Amino acid sequence: MLPEPVMVRVKEEFLNYGGLGASVIEISHRAKDFVAIVDGTTSLFRELTGLPADYSVLFVAGGGRMQFSAVPLNLIGRSPSRKALYVETGVFAANAIKDAAPYGDIKVLASSRDTGFDRIPTIDPAAIDQDASYVHITTNNTVYGSRWNTFPETGAVPLVGDQTSEILSRVIDFSRFGVVYAGLQKNLGPSGSALVVIRKDLLGQALPVTPLLLNYASVDKGNSLVNTPSTFNIYVTWLVLQWLKEQGGVAAIEAVNEKKAKTVYDVIDASSFYKGVVQPEHRSRMNVTFHLPNEELLGLFLKGAGKAGLSSLKGYRDVGGVRASIYNAMPLEGAQALAAYMKEFERTNG
Ligand SMILES: *Cc1c(COP(=O)(O)O)cnc(C)c1O
Repeated sequence: MLPEPVMVRVKEEFLNYGGLGASVIEISHRAKDFVAIVDGTTSLFRELTGLPADYSVLFVAGGGRMQFSAVPLNLIGRSPSRKALYVETGVFAANAIKDAAPYGDIKVLASSRDTGFDRIPTIDPAAIDQDASYVHITTNNTVYGSRWNTFPETGAVPLVGDQTSEILSRVIDFSRFGVVYAGLQKNLGPSGSALVVIRKDLLGQALPVTPLLLNYASVDKGNSLVNTPSTFNIYVTWLVLQWLKEQGGVAAIEAVNEKKAKTVYDVIDASSFYKGVVQPEHRSRMNVTFHLPNEELLGLFLKGAGKAGLSSLKGYRDVGGVRASIYNAMPLEGAQALAAYMKEFERTNG
């Protein structure tokens, strides 16, 4: 979901951006009006996150998943043994491990696979090999619906966080991370691009084989304009950030997000009909996952939900059940409508 006021504005100024008589997708990425959009987007991101000055903000192609390759290409050479540590907490974490494998010695530091990814594993700081090039975590697990509430202590080893499904949904201390990345399409804008935040001392250590467009140092040097980026994606992200600022910023949207998630989790907790996938202390505020007693009831639930205007609730194939994604653009009323539907469905089918 994207905020409706953003989409209305995109529509209104699509044929004639800023009185230029051309669309934002027609002007050159080197035109000063577009450079102003890139600069405006990064500075607004900095403002909204309180990002320390020693971090760069980049826009890169290929969405979230391309970063599963870009991260090892840029960082794994930091350790002579090319060792990196990954925490496996769900589908995207597992894919990140798979995609990093060609570039070095990829170790699974901890995994919750054995318990069906129902939790975030506890990390013993002493278990972190200080020779590793980085530690990778997925801060919010989109498919199973879990999240890290506190981030692991990794000493001098940089922590890398995939924040694709929760960026700007809660206040996060970015100084805890060496690198944060997020595909735009869940909380920031259209699909196909990603935003990367990197501590500047980590730039310039990429493996020699790293393609130019995946090399964070080149992208940083070129102000994210090394080649023609998806100008439309950056422009929409800029509008989404302006919208977020109007909502009161990250702390304000976090309060709404807490309320939204609680509205749905409260129904699960008060019921013996619905069963949450994730242990309560590890629950995501962006992706609420739960099961119904059987497949037949699940089918009925999803069909009725569709009729009630509640869409995209089918769980990911590995998990089954229901997944309600309640990203920043979802208003509280959306979560309330789902909660009301769940209660009524349980009353009539439970
Ligand atoms: C959606 C998602 C991705 C994949 O993003 P793409 O842009 O489709 O490559 C990666 N990580 C997480 C946590 C996600 O939720």
